[in-house]
Amino acid sequence: MSTSENTSDNISADPSPAVGPVAPPAAKTDEQWRQELTPEEYRVLRQAGTERPYTGEYWDTHTAGVYQCRACGTELFTSKEKFDSHCGWPSFWAPLADGTVRYIHDRTLGMDRVEVRCANCDSHLGHVFDGEGYGTPTDQRYCINSVSLKLVSAHDAGQ
Ligand SMILES: [Zn+2]
Repeated sequence: MSTSENTSDNISADPSPAVGPVAPPAAKTDEQWRQELTPEEYRVLRQAGTERPYTGEYWDTHTAGVYQCRACGTELFTSKEKFDSHCGWPSFWAPLADGTVRYIHDRTLGMDRVEVRCANCDSHLGHVFDGEGYGTPTDQRYCINSVSLKLVSAHDAGQ
């Protein structure tokens, strides 16, 4: 009589949530990133590309506001730390806070550089250089691709 009852197997051994300690909080598959990002965003953010200098949206921007990660929306930099480096890319002398970005030693292209990535989604942002003599409080230059950022102006944010 009761045919449906017999099919209920014991499924107490449900899979535990696979939270690896290595995966960043906002990890996505490569296919997801391709769908969500434009080709240029994908090339820079996910393939560590570099936009051509003086072509990006924000290299000469002085608007007050917060710069978010273009890929995941995490707040990474603010206009308070942005300075005119005249290098063709948005430049900051510090991130918004410790832990919002992470650093990777990059020896590609025959150079010895420190890559900067979003700590939340592991997307490529740019590189950080020190000791260049720009006269900023840290003497560091976070050289960040415009296409890796999204500026939310203080006016738009209602501040
Ligand atoms: Zn991100």
